[in-house]
Amino acid sequence: MSSQEYEAIVIGSGPGGLSCAALLQKRGVRTLLVEKNSMLGGKMISIEKDGWAYDLFPHGQVPMRGSAFETVFAELGVSDEFEPALEPDDERDIITLAYRRHEWDKYKTVTQKQAMADPQPFFDLWEATEDEREKALVVMTELAMMPDEDIAKLDNMTMHEWLSERDVPAPLYNYMGLHANASLAEPLDLVAASEQILILKQIMLQGGGGQYKGGFGMLTKVMAREFEKNGGEILTEAKVERINVADGAVTGVETARGSFDAPVVVSSAGIQPTVLKLVGEEHFDRGYVDYVKGLVPGWAFTSVRYFLSRPVMDTAMYVVWSDDSWLDTARFRKQKEGGEPDEVILFMVNHSFYDEHAAPPGKQVLVSGTVCSSNPEAKEIEGIWSCMDRQMRELFPDIWDATERKEYNGPREISNLTRDAVLPGQGGECVGLAQIVGQCGSMKPKSETSIRGLYLAGADAGAAGMGTHQAALSGIEVARLTQHCLNKMYKAQ
Ligand SMILES: Cc1cc2nc3c(=O)[nH]c(=O)nc-3n(C[C@H](O)[C@H](O)[C@H](O)COP(=O)(O)OP(=O)(O)OC[C@H]3O[C@@H](n4cnc5c(N)ncnc54)[C@H](O)[C@@H]3O)c2cc1C
Repeated sequence: MSSQEYEAIVIGSGPGGLSCAALLQKRGVRTLLVEKNSMLGGKMISIEKDGWAYDLFPHGQVPMRGSAFETVFAELGVSDEFEPALEPDDERDIITLAYRRHEWDKYKTVTQKQAMADPQPFFDLWEATEDEREKALVVMTELAMMPDEDIAKLDNMTMHEWLSERDVPAPLYNYMGLHANASLAEPLDLVAASEQILILKQIMLQGGGGQYKGGFGMLTKVMAREFEKNGGEILTEAKVERINVADGAVTGVETARGSFDAPVVVSSAGIQPTVLKLVGEEHFDRGYVDYVKGLVPGWAFTSVRYFLSRPVMDTAMYVVWSDDSWLDTARFRKQKEGGEPDEVILFMVNHSFYDEHAAPPGKQVLVSGTVCSSNPEAKEIEGIWSCMDRQMRELFPDIWDATERKEYNGPREISNLTRDAVLPGQGGECVGLAQIVGQCGSMKPKSETSIRGLYLAGADAGAAGMGTHQAALSGIEVARLTQHCLNKMYKAQ
């Protein structure tokens, strides 16, 4: 392979890397995509095995209308393949909410259809008083109507601080605690209000939590297919060991399958692994290295998948929380002490609801997840799995008899699949870097680096919002930056 064959090399085929690579190649930039795994998709991966077909992780899209993927598909000319899994007029109940107030013994549940505009069933779930309903509506209206420029001013305030300045009924505050965990894998007392409010607003105005026909893996498949169709090359099982730098500029990469040269390298391997391991500290100034080392990883999401001989869940999603189960920093520290927690939040996705081929006929596959530490060596994960299994048995008494097989995933598995652990406690992040005060909006790490031609794409750099959407937004932006960089280089020649 000639050393001048590529203009850009993209490391990683998650939503950040793949969206960037697909757009670059579509715009005529000769691009090589290198992926360490045998399968593409990063955390947005779908599995097809032994008659079962499902997304590996419990994914829901926010925003459902107007996501970054819609933009990418439009430019690739494949908008017709961008299909939400559910029709807008689907009449079935889609989501079950199960909630327990502190003083109650048991959970109470409601089911909701999609696009529910009426919040009253949600308030009924809390057994809210008239006064609580009115107060909750005031806060929810403020969230939904907040202009984007006002949201951007809240980078420096936690969601807890924002809520504390308002008259918020306790159950709504506790719901926000759940939401910070489930949508951002963050605690309410650290998450940037700008990030959480942006996501809440998107859910309320553009829809949220949905899936696609063919799962999230469809997004991966279509973008990879178009990338190759437009002349891009994909190298799997090609872990990048080194990003080469000479005279302050990138020159290419060393991989398990050989060396490749290009004047631009885009890394979606995570800012900390990229800077500290793949490039090496010696190529950056001390201040930047200290800044990168000081960045805080987001929490992980640990999951148990149930392969069932018969259906046990009849909605697409099932969310379980109580006033006592969502994690703030203090509760997280208690969880870190180990042992089996009394109760955790659960976010469940019933793959079979979205796709009749997710399981063999008559069977069902579903996944249940909760937040935990991103440390691949975290000792408390097995206790959390026991708690999750116990809660599932309480919620679905039939599940034990119906379970043919279970699969457990946690920060170790997430790290092995995607992001190297290069600092203590880091590697198993669910989204990427923590979306907390000091690391978001204007303080989010930039996609540009001090090394000419080196860019960071994906959840860690340059964008805002929920996981996959944020990563793809960053990919779109880095494709633009890459073109500018190449154009400047060509002009200078
Ligand atoms: C359990 C779980 C649940 C989630 N739920 C949701 C959800 O409901 N909604 C949502 O929007 N998001 C969700 N997310 C988050 C979302 O999946 C991530 O934020 C998103 O995938 C990040 O994209 P990325 O491109 O930055 O990184 P990744 O998806 O991690 O992709 C990075 C890629 O780089 C590759 N790579 C890394 N190092 C190297 C190397 N040295 N050489 C070659 N390749 C390398 C990896 O193998 C991987 O393919 C969830 C994640 C998890 C784990």
